[in-house]
Amino acid sequence: MNALDAFRHQMSQINDLLNTMSLLNWDARVTMPPGGTETRAQQLGTLAEIVRERLGSSTTERLLEAAEREIEGLPDDDYAVREVRQTRAALETLARIPPELSAELVRLGSAAQPLWVEAKARKNYAHFAPALEKMVSLTQELAAAIGYDAHPYDAMLKQYEPGMTAATLQPLFAELRGSLLPLLERIRSSPALAPTHIFDQPFPKAQQRAFALSIAERFGFDPKRGRVDESHHPFEISLTSNDVRMTTRYNERYLPGAVFGLFHETGHALYEQNVDPALTRTVLATDLPGLYAVGGTSFGLHESQSRLWENMVGRSRTFWDNHFGELRDTFPEQLAGVNADTFYRAVNDVKPSLIRVEADEVTYNFHIMLRTELEMALLDGSVSVAELPEAWNAKMETYLGLTPHDASVGVLQDIHWSHGHIGTFPTYTLGNVMAAQFFEAAHEQVPGLAESLARADYTPLRTWLTDNLYRHGRAYTPAELLERSTGRALEAGPLLRYLTEKYEELHPVG
Ligand code: ZN
Repeated sequence: MNALDAFRHQMSQINDLLNTMSLLNWDARVTMPPGGTETRAQQLGTLAEIVRERLGSSTTERLLEAAEREIEGLPDDDYAVREVRQTRAALETLARIPPELSAELVRLGSAAQPLWVEAKARKNYAHFAPALEKMVSLTQELAAAIGYDAHPYDAMLKQYEPGMTAATLQPLFAELRGSLLPLLERIRSSPALAPTHIFDQPFPKAQQRAFALSIAERFGFDPKRGRVDESHHPFEISLTSNDVRMTTRYNERYLPGAVFGLFHETGHALYEQNVDPALTRTVLATDLPGLYAVGGTSFGLHESQSRLWENMVGRSRTFWDNHFGELRDTFPEQLAGVNADTFYRAVNDVKPSLIRVEADEVTYNFHIMLRTELEMALLDGSVSVAELPEAWNAKMETYLGLTPHDASVGVLQDIHWSHGHIGTFPTYTLGNVMAAQFFEAAHEQVPGLAESLARADYTPLRTWLTDNLYRHGRAYTPAELLERSTGRALEAGPLLRYLTEKYEELHPVG
């Protein structure tokens, strides 16, 4: 066996262990009885320790050094070069984080979550504040350990969105605000009302599932290498590209929840199912510093695919012109007096709301800016945990003209900070921004793409996305994939063009 093969063998076993952890996590979220919580956490802890030991072992170091010698002279974008370099970088990052700090963060995460649940139920921020205080200070320690040049937030972003920094996010957000605030103003003063009352009637679960799943398969989801279940918080997880699982949640009195939820997870699933099979069980299907087996290259790039299929395809006029008939056949009584145009308007209703997960395409990014700006301020100390609710409410008023009536719909609404995942929020807006860049580039590069979408033929779009993004797994960074596929760096222009064109048409002046 040559050195590269020996190194790959070692890394494939680490990938196997991480996929096994993913299966235990999937089970915990989908089928495990509540009584299993404590022992499941112990099992996951044991496996994580085994993975860390293997990664940091002298065997891995010896195999990596030999592989480093073997890749000398290969071109920079060769997959083997990427595998070896990513492993070296991950080992360096993991070595910088003191094991006691990692353990303390895990302990605090499990202790803080029930406190957050109670605090939210009681609408009492003070009940969660001490845990959040501790979480912020441990995160500051973690940022210092990982290292950063300009802002502690950069160290956190590095884990979720390699290459992204606070200094890049700030002007991007300013540009989005500059165009989206006037667009929102226009929408609010427009007389065009969306007929959302059509959702307020019973839509049986079995039919919702049948419709959403048939669309997922039309988009290209392969049910022989995936499955769909139910869970309270919808998610997608892959156990290699051969076993990609999605979940959704059905609300029988709100049809769009499960339908668009499943379109969203299908975008994530298409990314995972279309990673080059040659990358299965390799470093290029493994988030090594995050100790997580995944084919997609970053949180933001993954989200760009869920948003692209959910919104740019699934919420388009073309889509409903094609598929509304099938939906009406599925729910003939409920949708008797509704046509494709009415339905299109209803699923694109824009209304500022206090709740992020209920937000539409236009207001969603404001929820993310607010959270990202507060996370940065918490980490650099410019806003204290005690000042947080007031800072939250002030930004909510500035961006969306709303004031939360209590903390459960304000500063306590998201689970993220109780887990300690400070730094993941901006990846949602980055996903929206990149989705529009890819969608625009695909239209420029694929002849007849608009016509194929108008025929409900999703193969040309999925093929472009697979060739340019999916198949590469984690070989390239988000910035490299943008540059290689669109010829441009990250930019707000395509998202602003997409939103402006769509919502101005829906909301004519006067
Ligand atoms: Zn998502």
